[in-house]
Amino acid sequence: MTLRGRLTTAFLVVVLGPVLLGSIFVAVTVATVSRDRIAERLDHAATTVQTGMAAACRQLQAAADAVAVVPPDDRSAVAAQLITRGLASDIKIVSAAMARSGGTTVPAPRPVEFTGWQDCSAPTGGPVTAIAARSVAGPETITAAQAVDQAFLARLAAASGTDVRLTGDRPSGEHRRLSAKPGQPLPLTLTVPPGKPTFLYALLPAVVLAVALAAVLVARWLAYSTTRPLGELAWAADRVADGDLNTRVPILRADELGRLAATFNRMTRELQAYVQALTASRDQLRGHLAILGETLSSTHDLHRILQVILRTALAATGARAGLVLLLDPATDQLVARCGVGLPGDWDVPDTELIKRRLPVGQGVLGSVAATGEPRRGQGSPVSAEPPCLTYVAVPICAPAVAEEPGDPLPQPATLGVLALYDRVGGDAFDDADLHTLRTFAGQAGVAVHNVRMHEEAQRLSLTDPLTGLWNYRYLRESLRREVERASRFGRMLAVLVLDLDHFKEVNDTYGHAAGDAVLGEFARRIRVGLREVDVAFRQGGEEFVVLLPETDAYGGAIVAERLGAAVRGRPVAVDAVQIPITVSIGVAVYPEHGENSVQVLAAADRALYAAKNAGRDTYRLAEPADVTKSGVSSGDHEGNFDQATAVPGGLRPQQHRRGR
Ligand code: GH3
Ligand code: MG
Ligand code: MG
Repeated sequence: MTLRGRLTTAFLVVVLGPVLLGSIFVAVTVATVSRDRIAERLDHAATTVQTGMAAACRQLQAAADAVAVVPPDDRSAVAAQLITRGLASDIKIVSAAMARSGGTTVPAPRPVEFTGWQDCSAPTGGPVTAIAARSVAGPETITAAQAVDQAFLARLAAASGTDVRLTGDRPSGEHRRLSAKPGQPLPLTLTVPPGKPTFLYALLPAVVLAVALAAVLVARWLAYSTTRPLGELAWAADRVADGDLNTRVPILRADELGRLAATFNRMTRELQAYVQALTASRDQLRGHLAILGETLSSTHDLHRILQVILRTALAATGARAGLVLLLDPATDQLVARCGVGLPGDWDVPDTELIKRRLPVGQGVLGSVAATGEPRRGQGSPVSAEPPCLTYVAVPICAPAVAEEPGDPLPQPATLGVLALYDRVGGDAFDDADLHTLRTFAGQAGVAVHNVRMHEEAQRLSLTDPLTGLWNYRYLRESLRREVERASRFGRMLAVLVLDLDHFKEVNDTYGHAAGDAVLGEFARRIRVGLREVDVAFRQGGEEFVVLLPETDAYGGAIVAERLGAAVRGRPVAVDAVQIPITVSIGVAVYPEHGENSVQVLAAADRALYAAKNAGRDTYRLAEPADVTKSGVSSGDHEGNFDQATAVPGGLRPQQHRRGR
């Protein structure tokens, strides 16, 4: 049975039950009242009839007595007069000895023997034609009679308000029987005529019927109006369950069902918005993951990798801002490397951000770096860190690798910290976010580790292990790049070639190991004597090259002089032995002394040869390129160079064979 059916039945029971009970009660009451009223009427009628009969009997008695008191001869006349006056319908005078009418002596019959005459004082029963009363005067008996006919009965009926009949017929309806007795000599039946059904009797079923009909209609309407919104809600819920989140239900009234419909609509709308947001963020995350995968596999650009990891972590957790810091082991500080969406004075480009340093062990970020434990919370951590409402920070750890297969994994080294701030929507970061962020921190750890390994490998292949300077391989590449840059920007580039003097003797005198130590110290002094932009290389053996970007011959000569002075008179201490050394330097300048890197280096080599020839412990500037090209052999240009700078003198010219 449907809800609508149940509701209809319930309404009908509630409404029709009392109506039916009430109408039955009314009907019973009305019937009782009307029966009582009829009984009352019959009682009243009986009294009236009895009174009337008594009066009639008294009147007959009076008539009989009136005849009896007059002299016998006048009696007939008086009787006739009384009949005429209507006091009796017949008066008979009968002699006790004989009937006057007959004139014989036969004993007169008893007055009661008049056929059907009922004596008022002693009715005898049987057929009734009249009622009579008698009076005895001497031998005569006077009997006054009143005929009991339809007219007489009609008079009784009119007086009593009932139908009055002589008892005999079977009466219909409510009736009362009056038996004959002295004073009321007639056996009578009083009947209340069966009245037409009253208006009330007709009205009652009509009203009940109308009410029942109305109740059915109202019940159906109520059930319909109650269940219709529920039906619509069920239909809409079905559609939503099938995935149609555009479904809405009409809000017909502001009742509970209306509120339910409004809530359903709001729920569906929010579900829709949530699904859309979820879909959008899923798509966004897919995009970020694709970029992340591509970036991780295709580049060793650490900054770009960190940026992509950070953006992906933001998309995955719905955070507004994020920051990646890497540990600088030299200073034991966290260096901000890349930030997204940071507020306030943290909203600067990454190139500026890199100047922000935070001490390890202090604040939220510092403690994460120090302990390797993630942290999350609400409220700005410390003033030195980005301001925020909520934060989560996890360590970036290097992937742990066992020394030997099967060994327990060592505690992974912390490389930095990945922090996110202010999740969209205002909720605090939860365990799921922390888990997600740890995944990205793991990626970042692998990436940083890989890039550092790569850089280390790169550095090893390009540097000279003995001196730590760049090697010959890197020299060729750097020289080509610097010449190209100088050419593009129309700048100059000075190239210095340095060769220690009589180094073979150092080896021979102090041993090869001491020679190595001297080479290391010489390299250090070169580095110290250079600007940040200058680069030093070990070309091989005890020969070195220095590139001086944006430097002309004059600048190159000054550096050559400074480097010469860095060793001259300042012996290198090796195992408590002071080893004096000097250096010869050739200087060439692009584009003055060569059109390309090879030519410039060759020019510098020739200048070195000239310096050796000039007696060592000095420098020489290369010859101009056109001179070189015209085939003039390399030579000593100290003449014009000495004019510009004070060339350390006192060096004896010496034949120099450059052994390379
Ligand atoms: P000069 O250049 O003044 O003409 O004389 P020199 O003795 O330095 O001559 P040359 O440049 O020909 O000799 C190079 C010597 O440097 C040969 C070798 O014994 C030494 N040498 C080259 N490479 C190394 C090295 O890596 N370690 C050490 N200890 N000695 C080296
Ligand atoms: Mg040499
Ligand atoms: Mg040498």
